Amino acid sequence: MPAAIIDGKALAKDLRAEIAKRVEALAGRGVVPALAVILVGDDPASVSYVSGKEKACAEAGMRSIERRLSADAAEAELLSLVEAFNRDPEIHGILVQLPLPKHISERKVVAAIAPEKDVDGFTPVNVGRLVLGEDCYPPCTPHGIVKLIGRAGVKLDGADVVVVGRSNIVGKPLANLLLQKSANATVTVCHTGTRDLAAHVRRADIVVACAGRPGLVSADMIKPGACVIDVGVNRVEAPDAPKGFRLVGDVDFEAAAKVAGSITPVPGGVGPMTITMLLDNTVTAAERTLGVRN
Ligand code: NAP
Repeated sequence: MPAAIIDGKALAKDLRAEIAKRVEALAGRGVVPALAVILVGDDPASVSYVSGKEKACAEAGMRSIERRLSADAAEAELLSLVEAFNRDPEIHGILVQLPLPKHISERKVVAAIAPEKDVDGFTPVNVGRLVLGEDCYPPCTPHGIVKLIGRAGVKLDGADVVVVGRSNIVGKPLANLLLQKSANATVTVCHTGTRDLAAHVRRADIVVACAGRPGLVSADMIKPGACVIDVGVNRVEAPDAPKGFRLVGDVDFEAAAKVAGSITPVPGGVGPMTITMLLDNTVTAAERTLGVRN
């Protein structure tokens, strides 16, 4: 039987409707959740991510405030902009679009974001809380992945999960979310130093591929019936496609769908969930200012 397709677009739509209701409730108390987005430079991918975030905010009835700095802006200028948003009581979430130009320290800039406004979940304080299992803003892509696994009806409790990739934005925070008692999975994290990737993936009830390598996870690595979450977004040449390329994940989707129990497509799987969880975190931040959320 072919795998069930886990529809990230549909789940994101359902969650955004719930978020819009929370926004309405806040509006009744005079608060409009607001996200400040800072973009440095004009990298086309970053510009498109930022406009996607603004559109999603508007659709949910939220405010988004965009500030653009030129690619040669000084680190001090960016830091003072972050500080200004930290102090502004009408701003609930702050997001600095990464990557930043080489002359600016990402580490320093991210650490400057006030933890209570860190809706991307990347500050050292937030990461520490995540590892300790305390209240935090779960980083958006990993949080979306956990929701998708739930949507697929796959139990995390006691499951063997193999995460392929250990980046600070996906693999590591995801592993930490899955280790929480509330998820209770057994987690293996693979990377370029892993000796036998196939052997690890083969015993996984759930595989999360987040390496950014097209075709890395092949069908013969997947345990029959496993849940496969493909985070990768890779451009591959496709002369017949209108733009000359198409987007693929890290999993050989066509072949894997014949073996897996459930699988996310690329696009339309993890992608739509990432922005949705950003909205969720921003609304939570606004609710916390009123004391209606922990
Ligand atoms: P990254 O920072 O480049 O990290 C990739 C990770 O994969 C690293 O830990 C690397 O190992 C590991 N890796 C690379 N090749 C491998 C191999 N052959 N075998 C085993 N592990 C391997 O990437 P990222 O920022 O986490 O993003 C990963 C992918 O997810 C990208 O395609 C990105 O576009 C996509 N993404 C999608 C979303 C979304 O919303 N859909 C969000 C974020 C990212 P080492 O640590 O040993 O180098």
